[in-house]
Amino acid sequence: MSKHYLITGGAGFIGSHLADFLHERGHRITVLDDLSTGSLTNLDKRIGKRGFRIKQGSVLDEPLMNQLIESVDGVVHLAAVVGVRLIAETPVNTLLVNMQGTEIVLRAAVRRHCKVVVASTSEVYGKREDTPFTENADLILGPSNAPRWGYAVSKLADEHLAMAYQQQYGLPVVIARLFNTVGARQSADYGMVIPRLVSQALTGTPLTVYGDGQQTRCFCSVHDVTHALATLLESDEANGHIFNVGSEEEVRIASLATRIVSVLGSRSRIENIPFERVYRPGFEDINVRKPDTRKLREMCGWIPQRALDDIIHEVAFGCRGLG
Ligand code: UDP
Repeated sequence: MSKHYLITGGAGFIGSHLADFLHERGHRITVLDDLSTGSLTNLDKRIGKRGFRIKQGSVLDEPLMNQLIESVDGVVHLAAVVGVRLIAETPVNTLLVNMQGTEIVLRAAVRRHCKVVVASTSEVYGKREDTPFTENADLILGPSNAPRWGYAVSKLADEHLAMAYQQQYGLPVVIARLFNTVGARQSADYGMVIPRLVSQALTGTPLTVYGDGQQTRCFCSVHDVTHALATLLESDEANGHIFNVGSEEEVRIASLATRIVSVLGSRSRIENIPFERVYRPGFEDINVRKPDTRKLREMCGWIPQRALDDIIHEVAFGCRGLG
């Protein structure tokens, strides 16, 4: 049955892919985006189509949020300040948008008992080293005078707010902890490693591997992530739960760089850059980050479909990759 969904941050990288996915499945979609890091070009394929509308505005605008939630069946709340670089440069804005914005969304949703999927992040696991991370694990964050942790704390506050609205008002909420998500339309401007290294490989400049490159990440295609978000939105069974969403295939950043050079046939060399030269004092890089996605798999059979080489190809050429 066709539903009407609101996607906050729907002109951003993940939001626009989710808008494509849900709209193509026949749902009506309203996007709310302030276009701070999102862009209308991400929604080129949607704008002007029946059952799709975009409202330029902020999640901090409570009357607007009340008005938009009035007519929808569910919300995916993705609007947030994201990206390591942007977060480091605008810490006050990060805390404000991420915490107040989520509270306004939840407060508006409770008036109509409207389901909300809150996008959280693997950052909340902080400095844990015992991978893979399960949703019930304790979280190890650094001190408040180290700038990196402000983002994690803001998203953790969002998770607590969502859970509190569920406990106190019975609001149906789901928390999706998104691990490194990659694909076409992801900007290289906010520090994300694959768009940066791909753009360097394509322009023949050196690939900048920070530190010794032995740190690991698991990269998941945005198509797999949007599929998971749509499932969490539509499943009642998911309500009241936290889910990791990400790939379980671990790769060292040094090997990622080598792979990008090889997949794209680039002549770029790879350069190691000490962390002190790229991050502000007090910024700590995360050593390992790998999700345990059993909970999501057991609920709905979700497993990522796209391999890393396809993802690299898609980032480079904006298409769906090789396979
Ligand atoms: N990184 C890198 N070169 C870059 C950008 C990032 O080596 O040009 C590293 C970064 O230090 C981190 C990893 O790649 O260890 C992933 O960084 P990203 O900002 O994409 O995500 P996050 O650290 O939030 O997982």
